[in-house]
Amino acid sequence: MQLPLIEASLVKLSEQELTSLNYAFQQMRKPLQTINYDYAVWDRTYSYMKSNSASAKRYYEKHEYPDDTFKSLKVDGVFIFNRTNQPVFSKGFNHRNDIPLVFELTDFKQHPQNIALSPQTKQAHPPASKPLDSPDDVPSTHGVIATRYGPAIYSSTSILKSDRSGSQLGYLVFIRLIDEWFIAELSQYTAAGVEIAMADAADAQLARLGANTKLNKVTATSERLITNVDGKPLLKLVLYHTNNQPPPMLDYSIIILLVEMSFLLILAYFLYSYFLVRPVRKLASDIKKMDKSREIKKLRYHYPITELVKVATHFNALMGTIQEQTKQLNEQVFIDKLTNIPNRRAFEQRLETYCQLLARQQIGFTLIIADVDHFKEYNDTLGHLAGDEALIKVAQTLSQQFYRAEDICARFGGEEFIMLFRDIPDEPLQRKLDAMLHSFAELNLPHPNSSTANYVTVSLGVCTVVAVDDFEFKSESHIIGSQAALIADKALYHAKACGRNQLSKTTITVDEIEQLEANKIGHQA
Ligand code: GH3
Ligand code: MG
Ligand code: MG
Repeated sequence: MQLPLIEASLVKLSEQELTSLNYAFQQMRKPLQTINYDYAVWDRTYSYMKSNSASAKRYYEKHEYPDDTFKSLKVDGVFIFNRTNQPVFSKGFNHRNDIPLVFELTDFKQHPQNIALSPQTKQAHPPASKPLDSPDDVPSTHGVIATRYGPAIYSSTSILKSDRSGSQLGYLVFIRLIDEWFIAELSQYTAAGVEIAMADAADAQLARLGANTKLNKVTATSERLITNVDGKPLLKLVLYHTNNQPPPMLDYSIIILLVEMSFLLILAYFLYSYFLVRPVRKLASDIKKMDKSREIKKLRYHYPITELVKVATHFNALMGTIQEQTKQLNEQVFIDKLTNIPNRRAFEQRLETYCQLLARQQIGFTLIIADVDHFKEYNDTLGHLAGDEALIKVAQTLSQQFYRAEDICARFGGEEFIMLFRDIPDEPLQRKLDAMLHSFAELNLPHPNSSTANYVTVSLGVCTVVAVDDFEFKSESHIIGSQAALIADKALYHAKACGRNQLSKTTITVDEIEQLEANKIGHQA
């Protein structure tokens, strides 16, 4: 989208490189022109031209153009022509590698085009007595010329006195070869690389050096033609532009970048999926499962990111709290509010378990009902609140006899309590029951209106159910429980009738219970 703009600026850049090539070439020629002028418009050279003394001439030639002068002036050839274009002095010396050179270019018969070396007279007949106004008025010429050692730049100026007066006695030509050193020096002015090549007739249509540099498209190279004195193609300067390629839309590096970015995207997706999506999904499904099964489990902790581990930790802590609260709630369901001991519901559950154990594994149990004696009177005399306090103490006193986890002492309702001992032999049972009655004498909770004792007493109805070896109980197991409760209740009634503060005990076997049940059904039928 930015490409045309980039291309335009590249074209501009190439044009600037061409401009600097033109400039560079001028910069290379300027010193040659300057020194050429200085030597041509100089009294000594003028005297040299005027002089007829062969020794004076030799002196000038030897002292003004020794090898060192070639080196310091950076020239490779010095030629002096008289006004009839006859060469009067000619010396070649390669200022770079110190090799004497012999040029043929002064032979205008053989190289007629070289007559162009003669400077153009700017005024038709410049008066010899009056000095020329400015150095620019001094006839001079410059250009490129073919030599046997290759092309060279030349500068030619008419010989005048130092004050630009006198008649033009001839002209002085300096040349410098366009060799590898020349090109190296030229290249210092241009950012782009420059190469030189010989030109032939086919190159005649090329743009001349110095021509308009307007380009219309981005190119790798630009060629500029340098012509010989006769206007024929001589040299080609090839400029290698620094930025010849607009950046392509999809080049190799962009494709690599795209591939890298795609790879990074895929990697990011996998990391995102591995570290976030999958664990969060797993977390959600674990919680969902938990909710479905109504079973609280701890979440695992090995998540790949610490934030999820934190979530799991807090979730587990929350679940711990919920578990604790659930446990408390469950307990509350099975606990009597007033006395804080198990309630009737808890008792019934335990009785059901015992009945199953008895029916399947022949393990016997004893069921006891305790009823507070004359409690109505207690309430009536001391008030309901004191009655409640008394019930709490009764519950604690009865519970003291139960310390095995499988046994239970529960409040059945009102001032009645119900208890279970599993698999208890007669003798320890008797001890427990006696201890129970005795513990109320020890408690000695005053009862101001009892006809039995002056403290609170209880009566106990006891039913022991005994297992029978190899007997298979056919009815439903809970029948055993309800029959045992009925029998204990009858025993309680008996204990009450006998004067209270005592126990009445009945022992019955499972087969007898089954018989009782059968009789009951038969009776009903
Ligand atoms: P008996 O010796 O024959 O058992 O006589 P009793 O008075 O204990 O028996 P009755 O069934 O006539 O009276 C039971 C009394 O227990 C009646 C009621 O006011 C009292 N009672 C029942 N539940 C509670 C209770 O939760 N708190 C209090 N303070 N009294 C209760
Ligand atoms: Mg009662
Ligand atoms: Mg009572």
